[in-house]
Amino acid sequence: MTELAPETAITALPGVGPKIAEKLAQLGLTSCADALFHLPLRYEDRTRVTPIGSLRPGMRVMVAGQVLSSASVGRARRSLVVALGDGTGRVTLRFFHFYANQTRMLRRKPYLVCYGEVRPGYDGLEMVHPEYTVADPDTPVPVEDRLTPIYPAGEGVGQAILRRISSAALEQVGVTELLDAPDEDWTLADALHYVHRPPPEADLKQLSDGEHPAQQRLALEELVAHRISMLFMRERTRSRRAPSLATGPALAAELIAALPFELTGAQGRVVDEIGNDLAGEMPMQRLLHGDVGAGKTVVAAIAVAQALAAGHQAALTAPTEILAEQHYRSLSTWFEPLGVDVVWLTGRVKGRERTAALEALADGAGIAVGTHALMEEAVRFRSLALVVIDEQHRFGVRQRLRLRDKGPGDSTPHQLIMSATPIPRTLAMTAYADLEVSVIDELPPGRKPIGTVVVNADRRSEVIERVAFALTEGRQVYWVCTLVEESDVLQAEAATDTAAQLEHELGHAAVGLVHGRMKGVEKDEVMGRFKAGKLRLLVATTVIEVGVDVPNASLMIIENAERLGLSQLHQLRGRVGRGTAESTCLLLYRAPLTDTARQRLEVMRETTDGFRIAQRDLELRGPGEVLGTRQTGAVQFRIADLARDQPLLARVGPAAQRILSDFPARAEELVRRWVGDPERFGGV
Ligand code: ADP
Ligand code: MG
Repeated sequence: MTELAPETAITALPGVGPKIAEKLAQLGLTSCADALFHLPLRYEDRTRVTPIGSLRPGMRVMVAGQVLSSASVGRARRSLVVALGDGTGRVTLRFFHFYANQTRMLRRKPYLVCYGEVRPGYDGLEMVHPEYTVADPDTPVPVEDRLTPIYPAGEGVGQAILRRISSAALEQVGVTELLDAPDEDWTLADALHYVHRPPPEADLKQLSDGEHPAQQRLALEELVAHRISMLFMRERTRSRRAPSLATGPALAAELIAALPFELTGAQGRVVDEIGNDLAGEMPMQRLLHGDVGAGKTVVAAIAVAQALAAGHQAALTAPTEILAEQHYRSLSTWFEPLGVDVVWLTGRVKGRERTAALEALADGAGIAVGTHALMEEAVRFRSLALVVIDEQHRFGVRQRLRLRDKGPGDSTPHQLIMSATPIPRTLAMTAYADLEVSVIDELPPGRKPIGTVVVNADRRSEVIERVAFALTEGRQVYWVCTLVEESDVLQAEAATDTAAQLEHELGHAAVGLVHGRMKGVEKDEVMGRFKAGKLRLLVATTVIEVGVDVPNASLMIIENAERLGLSQLHQLRGRVGRGTAESTCLLLYRAPLTDTARQRLEVMRETTDGFRIAQRDLELRGPGEVLGTRQTGAVQFRIADLARDQPLLARVGPAAQRILSDFPARAEELVRRWVGDPERFGGV
C-alpha cells in the first residue's frame, strides 16, 4: 500500500474525482489529512439484531420482525402506524410522512429489518420514522462487523462517501506523532483507527459520550492545537498597533450624565477596564461577559464615546437584524442628542440608501450599526478605532478577524466582544484564550424576578386559561415550541400546528408565528408586529433565543422543557422579565421525567442567575450543553468538548507551551492538522 503524505490533495484517494472533491471542499476537506481528521459525530450499532422484547426507551437499535398490522390513523394529521413482532414482543413503527405505495407495501405484512430510536409511545414502545428494508425471514439478517460511524455530512456528501474516504485514508495516509504526551497509552494512528472503526464490543455509551481513551487522546491533541492557534493569533494581534484613545473624555461623561439611571458597580468596573485598554497602543481584544439584561449595551456605548472623542469612528455588529435594530435605536437615542451620526447598514439596505451609508462611513460618520454586512469588503471607514461585536457565539473567530483589517492606515481597531452565553469563568478562559475577559456580575437594581413554574403538559387546559387571562390583562405572551433533534421542517410544522391550535383555543387573540424555515425578512416582519403590540401571542421555535427585547411580553410557555439544555432555557427565559410587570415562565414537560431532567428543571425553578445555572449544568452535564454544542462559534471542535473534557484542560496549557518552545515546527503542523492554515491564524 502506498503511503500518502498528509498534505496530498484529497483527490489522491480512490473514488474522489473533481466533482466529489468540490463537495468535500465545502465541508472543509481538501487534503488527505482532512479526510483522516474528519471524525464521527456519533455511532450506530448495526452489528446485531436486538430482540423486540428487550427494547427500552432511548435505545437506538436494529430490530427484525413481521409486520402484524398496518393502518393510517388520526384525523387532522394522519400517521401510519405499523405493529412489528418477532416472537419476543411487539413495537409500533410510526410514520408522519408516508406515501400511498408505502402503505400498500406494508399492508402485505412483510418481514422488516429496522433501525431507529425507541421511545415511549401512547400504546407501548415505538420507533418514529425508523429506517427499514424488506428482508427474507429465512436468511440471517446481514449485520456490520464494526460499529457504524456517522460523520458530519454535507450537501452531496453522504455517509457512504465519507465512510469510503475515511477507510481509504486510514489505510493509505501516514501520520506523524506531534503531541509529546508520554503518559498516553494510545498512539495517534491507533486512536484514529479506533475512533473511525470501533470494534463491535466497544462500549457504545462511552463512545457516544466521547469518553473513550482513544477519543480523549485525540481531544487532548485538538485542544492543544487550538490553544497554540490562539496564542499565535494573540501574538499577531499584539504586534499590531491600535489608535490610542485617551481616557475620561468629555463625551463619555456627557453620555453618562444623560442616562436615566446610574451605572451599577459592576458596569463601572468594566468601563474602567475597557477604558484602560483603549488608552493603550495595543489593540484591545476583550470579551465583555454579562448575563442577559446585565446592561452590556451602555458599557459598549461608553467605549464608543471614547473612540468618538478621540476623533475616530466605531462600529457595532449583531448577528441578526432584530438585534442590530435594537442597538441602532439605543445608540441613536443616546448619541444623536450629542450631535453624532449613527449609520444603519445591513444586507437589506440597498441601492441609493446603501451608497449613502457607505459614503457617510468613508467620510467619517461617527457610528455604524448593523449586521455582518458591516464586515464586507466594500465597507470602508475613514478611521475605525473600535469594533463592538454582540453575541459573539453566533460569529466565528474568522469573521471577527475580518474587521481587524478595517482600521486606518496599518493600525488595527480595538475589539470588544459582548456575550451573554453563561460560561463559568474557567471555561471562558479556554474558549476565548486569545481574549481578555471582563465580567458584569450584577444586574441593574429593580429588576422584577421571573417566577418559574414547572408544569406537567397534561395540564394544558390550565395553561391555556392562564394565557387567556394574561392576554385580557393586556400582556403579551411567547409560546415556544421545541422538538429536539428533529429537522427544521418538523420543527416548523409543529410550530405551525400549535399556532393554529392556539388561535382556535383562544378565540380571537392575535397570534403570530416565527420559525427557522421563514426568510429573515418574514421573521423580522412578524417580530416587528409583535414588538409594536399588534400581535399579542407569538408562537416561536427556539429562533427567538437571542436578544429579542419586548418589555411588554411577560409570560412565556416553553414546551418540552425537559429536552432543552439549561443554557438554552436560560436564554429563552431571558426574553421575559424586561418590563415593569411581574413575569412568569411556565416550563411544560412530559412525564415521566428522568432524575437528571427533574434536577435540571429544578435548577431553572430555583434561580435566574446565569452563572449558577451554567455551573449546575456542568455538574449535571447533559451532553454538550454548556459549550459543547457545535454552534457556539467561539471555537469549533472536531472531537473535543469543553464541558466534557474539563479534566483535560489543565494539561492543555503546559503541553502547548512545551511544544511551542521545544518544537516550533510541530506547533504549526498541529494547527494545520486541527484548525486550518496557520497563516490565517497568525502563525509565521
Ligand atoms: P444586555 O446585557 O442583555 O445586552 P441591555 O444592555 O440590553 O442588556 O440592558 C438591558 C436593559 O437594562 C436596558 O433597557 C438598559 O437600558 C437597562 N440598563 C442598563 N444598565 C442599567 C442600570 N445601571 N440601571 C438601570 N437600568 C439599566
Ligand atoms: Mg444585549
